Amino acid sequence: MQPLPKEYNFGEIERKWQQRWEEMGIHHYDWNDSKRPAFSIDTPPPYPSGELHMGNVLNWTYFDMVARYKRMRGFNVLFPQGWDCHGLGIEIQVEKANNIRKRDLPPDQFRKMCMTLVEKYIAVMKEGILNLGCSIDWNTEYRTMDPDYWRRTQLSFIQLHKKGYMYQGTHPVNWCPHDETAIADAEVDYVKREGVLHYVRFQLEGTHEHMMIATSRPEFIPACVAIEVNPEDARYMKYIGKVILVPIVGRSVPVIADECVDPGFGTGVVMICTYGDKEDVKTVIKHKLPVIMLLTEGGRINENGGKYQGLTANQARAAIVQDLTAAGLLEKTEKIMQEVGVCDRCKAHVEILERKQWFMKTRELTEAVEKAANEVIWYPDYMKARLVDWAKSLDWDWVISRQRLFATPIPVWLCKTCGELIVAEADWVPIDPKLEGPRITKCPKCGGKEFVGERDVFDTWMDSSITCAVHAGWPDRSDWHRLFPASIHPSGTDIIRTWAYYLMVRHLALFDEPAYRSVLINGMVLGQDGRKMSKSLKNYVAAPEALGKYGADAIRQWAAGGGATGSDIPFRIQDVEYGRRFLVKLWNVSGFTNKLLVDYQPGKEGHMDLQPLDKWILSKMENTTKKVTDAFEKCQFNIALEEIRNFTWHVFCDAYVEAVKDRLYRPEVHGQEQKVAAQTTLDKVLFRILQLLSPVAPHLTEEIYQTLYAEAKGAKSLQQLPWPQFDETLVNNRVERRGDIIVELIGEVRREKAEKRMPLNSQVRTLTIYAGDQSAAEAIGDAESDITGALKVEKVVVLPEEGSGREVVQFPSIHFIAEYQAAGPK
Ligand SMILES: [Zn+2]
Ligand SMILES: [Zn+2]
Repeated sequence: MQPLPKEYNFGEIERKWQQRWEEMGIHHYDWNDSKRPAFSIDTPPPYPSGELHMGNVLNWTYFDMVARYKRMRGFNVLFPQGWDCHGLGIEIQVEKANNIRKRDLPPDQFRKMCMTLVEKYIAVMKEGILNLGCSIDWNTEYRTMDPDYWRRTQLSFIQLHKKGYMYQGTHPVNWCPHDETAIADAEVDYVKREGVLHYVRFQLEGTHEHMMIATSRPEFIPACVAIEVNPEDARYMKYIGKVILVPIVGRSVPVIADECVDPGFGTGVVMICTYGDKEDVKTVIKHKLPVIMLLTEGGRINENGGKYQGLTANQARAAIVQDLTAAGLLEKTEKIMQEVGVCDRCKAHVEILERKQWFMKTRELTEAVEKAANEVIWYPDYMKARLVDWAKSLDWDWVISRQRLFATPIPVWLCKTCGELIVAEADWVPIDPKLEGPRITKCPKCGGKEFVGERDVFDTWMDSSITCAVHAGWPDRSDWHRLFPASIHPSGTDIIRTWAYYLMVRHLALFDEPAYRSVLINGMVLGQDGRKMSKSLKNYVAAPEALGKYGADAIRQWAAGGGATGSDIPFRIQDVEYGRRFLVKLWNVSGFTNKLLVDYQPGKEGHMDLQPLDKWILSKMENTTKKVTDAFEKCQFNIALEEIRNFTWHVFCDAYVEAVKDRLYRPEVHGQEQKVAAQTTLDKVLFRILQLLSPVAPHLTEEIYQTLYAEAKGAKSLQQLPWPQFDETLVNNRVERRGDIIVELIGEVRREKAEKRMPLNSQVRTLTIYAGDQSAAEAIGDAESDITGALKVEKVVVLPEEGSGREVVQFPSIHFIAEYQAAGPK
């Protein structure tokens, strides 16, 4: 055995092991191993943002602890890593960085600029993930922008089209006028904003009567197709079925009745426009109203807006309000707080436009999603409701087409002559229909020979919602079901409605099977002040800096121990520093133990005489093992870590090591067999601590293992040794209770020495203990060797009766009187 260096240099140790593990290849999934059970982690491919933030650190620590724990449990673990490259975010950043609009460049050139930026961002994030010590199988690395991944996304579309799940239709869709693309419900954020309610007079046709309408979007007046009131509203009953004139445009529209109208909001009269909001969409469908599209894809008023054509929505509002005022039709205005939908990327006000789009029939799968969600195991369980509620809340099918450039193309064409839709065959993909025609000689319907390639592309979620199958090897490996459904899908509280949902609905549609068997949920990382971490709140912590300053093993302890799985976790420096101190403590006690074991040869130790405290700690070690194992099984990382740290710090370091030192220093007093018993126990307990802590703090535990244990244990890494089995034969409640008495008694005498300002090793001439009863007296008597050794007692007198003297706090029936040797040179 070589000695451990005195100083714990985490930077050097962590870098060393990250490299060595990679060289050893011990984190690779073995595709040829059919003996071990397989365990697949559906690592969500992150969207390259150019920085690893503390939220990523929390997520990756979670998955990595699962991966390491499962490997030690004997599983062949697939821990892949991909990058979800496409998306609006990258397009926007490329436009900003180069001060261009994407439509100004040839699409290929713009795509290349996006790819360059993505590669730069991936490099930064990858370095962060490596520095965190994640045990990823880097052989699996993939990018959704690669042709090979396009192939999979496109193939899944072709299969779903064959199964009848894909359709093209003209439907209202959420539309970002800034980015000029359709967006999904999940990409709409709702924010509270101050708006203005305009009270506008609408005249009843052929009369001098009018109805008062309160609207926050008067710019939509030119697209008004009906007026709506509640049928129970006594004020307006008489107008139902009458015709009303829309001001400014002079169009006649009906007054209709619907119980959805809230008589208490505004004036109780609602203007139905196509489309001011999602409620308008529902009303138009329900009452079969006509549609007058008012906005262009860029969010300006179109030809249906008459004199307002060409204005932005905001400009049109100002102009219409001015015209209403001039005509004496604006009664009054008042400020209101309202919730408006904004684009989650650019924050532009989301409009509703009708446009031809591709859809996936997701709503008809809602029941199947709910059933699957109920069969999946959720960590924590209460998060299940979020998926079910979201699936049930969806009004529209999933719009899967986007009007962007940096994305996977939709592999379809239209016949130029007859308009027939040609969908690519499975063996044509990957293919870009903008650059290549369909691989047929003529249109199967009309014989035409010219085709127009689809210009729309897929929503990014179409790429990233097939990962459970892709990770497993679909569609190329015949044995991909070995790894499917994914054993665990990690998701965040903020992406259940996207990642967890899209994965589930997509795999159910494709394979009639759920995507995953369990879901591991992480909460959000909050700043030190408990608010959402953000640069503008000045509570932002950059992960690379934190990793550089404290090391991965300390940061990982924050992630594991910061709070219950699924809850939001503040980034507390105190947690990281506590983690750091714990590692130093473990490092120091390992170095110290190493010295005490210098003449110890495991397997050749000879006869030993286990003392009560040896049995006590072995029993506690087994109970801790059981609790930690149960906690890891339930992904309760904070409980696992707390158990390990408590056991290590308080039971092992503070109590046991201190109590048995004397046995190891002075075998001539206590006997060789007692020394061997202590050595064997130290060796066993320290090793167990390393094993239990290894999923959380892999670097430090590996370093200590390599220095102290590798030679004897024979495995080239601590992670290759099996997870400890709970040994019930070592558990003994009576032994633990008796050991607790001894530990508390020793602690109380030490406290007295400290209070008297005496050194801890000062001699006690006589220690008289009033045990209170016979059984406590026996417990204390049996441990005399450790009591005298730990407290430097010359003579111990144990009496079974109650007595006077200092009380042992935890065991108030026990008292003692210590007579100290006079101070001075011995
Ligand atoms: Zn946008
Ligand atoms: Zn044709």
